[in-house]
This record gives sequence, structure tokens and C-alpha cells, in this order.
Amino acid sequence: MTANGRTLIARLRARREYRTGKPIVLRFSLTNASARELAVLRRGTPLEGLITECLAVTRDGRPVRYEGIHVQRGEPEASEYLYIAPGQQIDVAFNIADSYRMSAGRYRIRFNAPIEAIVGSSSSTPSTLRADRRSGRARRREVGAGASFDVVGSGRALLTKAQKFAEVMAAAAAIPVAAPGAVLPPVLNGGDASRRTVVQNAHVAAADLCDRAAQVVASGAQPPYEDWFGQATLSRVQRVASTFQHVSAEFRSKTINYDLIGYGCASGWWAYTIRNTPGAPNIHLCDEFWKAPEEGLRSKPGTIVHELTHAVAGTEDFAEDIPSARALASAHPDQATKCAASHQYFAESLS
Ligand SMILES: [Zn+2]
Repeated sequence: MTANGRTLIARLRARREYRTGKPIVLRFSLTNASARELAVLRRGTPLEGLITECLAVTRDGRPVRYEGIHVQRGEPEASEYLYIAPGQQIDVAFNIADSYRMSAGRYRIRFNAPIEAIVGSSSSTPSTLRADRRSGRARRREVGAGASFDVVGSGRALLTKAQKFAEVMAAAAAIPVAAPGAVLPPVLNGGDASRRTVVQNAHVAAADLCDRAAQVVASGAQPPYEDWFGQATLSRVQRVASTFQHVSAEFRSKTINYDLIGYGCASGWWAYTIRNTPGAPNIHLCDEFWKAPEEGLRSKPGTIVHELTHAVAGTEDFAEDIPSARALASAHPDQATKCAASHQYFAESLS
């Protein structure tokens, strides 16, 4: 890769060999190859640690599943930007064994997400950064970077976040709660009586949101469809309908687990889920969830729908906040039909 015409150069670096049972630390760097300062969003890159599915990982040629978290956040905070001067390089280390089961084998890792950058932002304030994003001045750039290495030895791979979670939750007190209707009662971990009631109500409202969304999509693409999923085609509409139908069925067939203690949450987060945990879907509720409204956009029930589309239907986080979800619908309708936030905002917009 040359710097020709490129603003940002990404690089992933690994040792040639690691041992099973030990942390597998890779380095991710970004170089500003342009002549102007850049404000780069750390979100969705290893610059914030590995908390999104921004890497494609294979072992001996076969894909390895991401077992890290899927987090829900609002619009980026100013603190999520890094300023990189012309010619400057920034570099971080992260342990990939947190989010992937790294048993012995030959690995190839590829950075698989665009990086969002705003040019010439040395004087940016939080509000101008926000305005730049909304007006489309923030460009998402495909930067591409990869690394290969071997993991050797016969030791057990380190536990991923999903596996650690399963151990913590197995040890926590679980309280089944009765809910009306055909929706199965959830299991609530922790929380006082009033918070348990809040979650129980949001759980039932989330099932309603999903049912309504499934009906609206199945009856043909209505106007809110294009707001959140972009141009409709038969296969896109079918994919969205099937996702809502899956999640609807989940409320009736699985006991959904809610963590009310906010295990593993950080400030500014709504909620997160870890896919591929053994047993029922799990939703961790974080501080912003408790402040969210009971209905409308970015509501408590919509947050639950969002997480369940990850857990049940394999959606991704191609967009998180409202402006980026709208932009995704018009620019990348196929991705929008596989994006959790798009499903959330569509379902919420029907209420
Ligand atoms: Zn998400």
C-alpha cells in the first residue's frame, strides 16, 4: 500500500508466533499521510480496545467467531476523537484473545471496518465535530490492514469475554419474573424492585415493538422502511421481516436474561450483549438505559430489540447513533438490513 492519495495508513502488527494460554497482543497503528491535521474517531477501531467486530479473523483458513461484546452508544463524545498531526503515527496494543478463542493454528487477521475522520479539525469543539458528522464532512475511509501469525502449544486458550461472562452469570443469583401474555418471563439478575419492574415492562413492550415491526414489513415497504433501511428490494425486505420474526419468536421460546448490575459496562453505554454464550440470550443494561424514555427513539424497549437482533439474528453495528443510521440507509441499504440500530429505530418509529 502506498501513501499515494491516501489520507490514513493503517497497519496491524503481530509477532510471528504466540503460545496458547497466553495473551495474544497485536498492535494497530494509524499514520496521517495527509498535509492536514485529522480528527479520527476511535470508535469501531482497536484504538478503543476490541469492543466492536472490526476484525476478520481466520484460523487455518476458516473464520473464527467474534465472542466480544456488542455495545449500544449515542453520538460520539469529543473524547472519542484522536487528533493526528500530518506525518504523525499513533499506535495501540490490544489482546485479541479477549474476543476470539485463540487455539493453536495459523491465523490471518484483517482490519475490516472504515475509519471516520474529519480533516483540519484542530480547532474543533464537541459541537462542531457533531455538526461536521451531521453534514457529512466526516468521511468514512476504508484503510485495510492485515497480519498473519502462528499460535503454538497445547495449552488451553485464554477465556474470551463470552466465556468469562457465562461463569460470572452462572454464579449470580437469578430471579425469574412472571410477565403477562404469551411472552415468556425474563430472568433478571440483580437490581431493586423498581428497576426489576422497569425491565419487566420494557421486556413486554419490546416484544410488542417487534411484533408490530414484523407485521408492517411483511405488509410491504411502508414509508418508515426507507428512512431506516433505504431502497427496498424483495430480498432486503424479506431479510428485515425475517429478523423481526426471529426476535418475536425468541420472546416466546427463550428465557431472556437481563443483567441489572451492569457487569462490564462503561459510562455512556446503553446496553450490550455477548453473542454465542451458552444458553439464553443475555442483555447487560448500562447507565444510559435507565435514563432512556419508555417509548420513541432510543427508548428502553428499542434498546432491548437492538440487542436481541444481535443475539438472535446476527446483526452488526454498521451504524450506532441516529444520524449514522440514516446515512447508512441511503448509502448502504444492504448493510442497513443487517444493522441492529436500523432495526431499533425502524421499530421505534412505528410507536
Ligand atoms: Zn449494537
